[in-house]
Amino acid sequence: EVRLAAPAWSDAGEFLARLRVSEWLLPAEPRAESGPLGPLLAGLAGAATPLPQTRFEDARLLPRRWGESAVGAFAHWPEALAAATGAVDYLDRVQGGAALQLRVPEAWADEETLRYDVATARHLELFQHAPGGESAHTLWRHLDQTVTAGGARRLRAWIERPLARPDAIAARHDAVGAWILDSTRRAAFRQALRGLPDLERLGARVACGKATPRDLGAIRDALKRLPELRDLLGSRLVSAAGRAELAGAPELEETLSAALVDDPPPVARDGGIRRAGYDAARDRLADLAHSGKRWIAELEASERERTGISSLRVGYNRVFGYYLEVTRTHRDKVPADYERRQTLANAERFVTPALKVKEGEVLGAEEKLKALEFELFVALRERAAGHVPALRAAAGVLSRLDAEAALGEAAARYGWTRPIVDDSDRLVVEDARHPVVERLLPAGAFVPNRIELDGATRQILLLTGPNMGGKSTYLRQIALIALLAQAGSFVPASSARIGCVDRLFTRVGSADRLGAGQSTFMVEMQETASILRAATARSLVLLDELGRGTATFDGLALAWAVTEHLHTGTARPRTVFATHYHELTQLESRLDRLRNIHVEVRERGEQVVFLHHVVDGAADRSYGIQVARLAGLPASVLARAEEVLHELESERTVEQLESHARDGTAARKQATAADPNAASQLGLFAPAEHPLLTELAALDPDRMTPFEALGRLAEWRKRWGSGSA
Ligand code: ATP
Repeated sequence: EVRLAAPAWSDAGEFLARLRVSEWLLPAEPRAESGPLGPLLAGLAGAATPLPQTRFEDARLLPRRWGESAVGAFAHWPEALAAATGAVDYLDRVQGGAALQLRVPEAWADEETLRYDVATARHLELFQHAPGGESAHTLWRHLDQTVTAGGARRLRAWIERPLARPDAIAARHDAVGAWILDSTRRAAFRQALRGLPDLERLGARVACGKATPRDLGAIRDALKRLPELRDLLGSRLVSAAGRAELAGAPELEETLSAALVDDPPPVARDGGIRRAGYDAARDRLADLAHSGKRWIAELEASERERTGISSLRVGYNRVFGYYLEVTRTHRDKVPADYERRQTLANAERFVTPALKVKEGEVLGAEEKLKALEFELFVALRERAAGHVPALRAAAGVLSRLDAEAALGEAAARYGWTRPIVDDSDRLVVEDARHPVVERLLPAGAFVPNRIELDGATRQILLLTGPNMGGKSTYLRQIALIALLAQAGSFVPASSARIGCVDRLFTRVGSADRLGAGQSTFMVEMQETASILRAATARSLVLLDELGRGTATFDGLALAWAVTEHLHTGTARPRTVFATHYHELTQLESRLDRLRNIHVEVRERGEQVVFLHHVVDGAADRSYGIQVARLAGLPASVLARAEEVLHELESERTVEQLESHARDGTAARKQATAADPNAASQLGLFAPAEHPLLTELAALDPDRMTPFEALGRLAEWRKRWGSGSA
């Protein structure tokens, strides 16, 4: 049974954008564009075809075609049934009943897959590199070790829609594991797959009556290779059911082998398709055409002898058909039965009644032969259409095996391990590596790191450290490892235990959608809003900087509030937040499920050395000026920056002192006013000394009852009274 999450149009957008749809079928009335789908469709590629509403309403269309069970999946899902009905009806109309060969429509439920949006796919460079990058920067480039096009499509679909059920994920890991263990079979199977025709695509072409003679020849060749492929697979690599499906369609293979020439032509109308000896009527016509042609060819020799004209030759053109050509010098030797047809500069062309008769026979036979071959070919194609389900089944098994073996190949090549995906709220990975960055660095240069997230104690990790320290790399590798694991792949780590993720959110850098009329800050906030709205306790949220696109204090205040919301809201997703706002690290003492982590650096004189090593605790400072020095900023600018930094830091301290001296009411009133500096008086910096001071400063004793005051005192004592902080 398909269970449905409450449908949210905002979720539909991200899903639809990822599908790369080329044509949308929409009810003409009421116009879909004016409903909730309107704004979504406006941003999507693909043509829109409006159809009468009634085309979506024939509830019997699917059961008539595929039986009652076809609608079972849609029982609680009338919209999906209507959509499937409209699509099948449309294909029937435009393809003249070819939709008959479609597979029964499937219902996909969101809960069964790990969902992520296009922005995340882009941030993680799954399939496409970032502007200015190269294909070696994409995950796909390294992961795709498939041999066949069908295998590549399957693997891509696994990455596009990773699983979200631990049992299904484990089954895929089992399969990949078997390929890793049996490296001999893996190599042999992958070798045997090379050059195999694309049975999935060929099957589809047969199904919609578009297959050419060459396509049928390719199907024959693919079918011929199935037994060898099947024999290469041990029982660990393919189930008995899969093995049975790999039988393909032996009867079709036999027919095609017997009926088709070795190398069938790409077009069906010009003959040359049928093997001799298979069809008596066709052979008779072919004989007739051939023997006539032979007679004509022999005519040249016999006429030369009869007339004594050694240069006489037989030719053919479209206007006069076959003719006998005699040069002018021999004109007087031309026999009386030659009829002149054409005079050229130095030759004349003739026909004889016997030649005309033969010509009629030859041309008639050839035309008939082509027509007959075409007819026989169409019948053969229709016969093949009956085997499409078997072709599809075999092709499906091969694609799956190719994709599994490819994941085995990647794991073996890159030293990946099998992850455990369970129902916990943890995510613990030892020696995690970034699958792509590791490949781009010299062997052994990538520094592996530990990842530990845990809904109870480490729900939010606040990651600080200098630019270039490796924060983004760390964030992305967490996302990629979770995604790979749930797609069924092994992962770059020494061990990994991952509580199944339902949705993956990334908010990385500033997505440039200026073309769409939105500022980078606006995009950033929209992305953040959708994360806060849609994340669940099972989600994984990765924030790479937040609030940088606006004034410092606005940005810091937003980042602060977002972090609190992620921590204390109802969803509480596992979150890693990389930031340059050091002030946020103070949250660790206030939020009990938030931990500071940082990337280590070592200072050597004025230089910094990046260790790329992530450990618990907050970074002591940001090393911005040191990084700028590495980047080659002029010494005078760096010196001035040091001075300004010094001044700013001392001013900040003065401001803090003033803020504490001020009465709490004033501080709070100012904070709510639209004063951009108000954030500094919210006590954001104060907890560097003690968070109690911040809370104290924010109180308004005039507005508290004695009971509230006592309660607050008791709470503080509970929190800090033990003397630990
Ligand atoms: P910024 O704050 O400027 O965005 P960052 O801290 O996010 O910087 P990254 O972009 O993640 O830094 O990393 C910078 C470079 O450091 C990477 O391109 C990579 O070459 C290297 N690097 C990152 N992580 C590691 C690692 N674990 N081992 C080795 N090299 C690494």
